[in-house]
Amino acid sequence: MNPNLDLSKAKYHDIVNENYDYAVLPWGATEPHNYHLPYMTDCYLAYHISIDAVEKAFSDNEIKGMVLPYVPFGAQNPGQLDYPFCLHTSYQTQFSILRDIVASLDRQGINKLFIVNGHGGNSFKSMIRDLAVDYPDFIIILIDWFAVEPQEPYFDIKDDHAGEQETSVLMYYRPDLVDLSVAGEGKRIPFKSASLNAGVGWTPRNWKRVSPDTGTANPKKSSAEKGERYAKAVVAKIAKLFAEVVKDGIYQ
Ligand SMILES: [Zn+2]
Repeated sequence: MNPNLDLSKAKYHDIVNENYDYAVLPWGATEPHNYHLPYMTDCYLAYHISIDAVEKAFSDNEIKGMVLPYVPFGAQNPGQLDYPFCLHTSYQTQFSILRDIVASLDRQGINKLFIVNGHGGNSFKSMIRDLAVDYPDFIIILIDWFAVEPQEPYFDIKDDHAGEQETSVLMYYRPDLVDLSVAGEGKRIPFKSASLNAGVGWTPRNWKRVSPDTGTANPKKSSAEKGERYAKAVVAKIAKLFAEVVKDGIYQ
């Protein structure tokens, strides 16, 4: 029987005689996703992708990872934060959560952590650099699951937030939580500055100024079939990464 790889279901009895090679931390956000997706969309997507990738890495390569409970606290843009129940966590709060998880795992002898991020507004690189100073033997690898595989071959309309990519993948994993019949168009209103639109400079978009329905890409052509094809391609790449890092390390 497979070892238990999901901490939201595991009992101590399941794991007491197992040795785990690595841990996976899904990290999402709590925010509106157009009218048709749940607030916790980024958490559910990161969680399901993590579970599938850890199970595939075990079945393909017999390496054992544990998926930790997802963190639902994301960094939010202005405007979005004004909507009810949208929850913003500061850099310091997110860093404290990550640091405490690393400290816990480190004392338990688990020194490889993969963050599977589901929210575009989260940015962990500075935190990971800071933790590398304090924990030089602890490897943290960041994966933005939504950017692992190009969207073009799978979807008709490129996603930005709550569009075809996120909607399709959630329709695959959790069809009970998606109501496409109430979706808005996800119309994205660009900046006035063409240079900002072209990426010459960056500033967080005020969500109330860029979207009437909180979505910023059209989800109408979403389907569970598209989501399944895409999720499986993403999972295969992430499972391969797990295996390479765990079995061979990261340096020559
Ligand atoms: Zn999202």
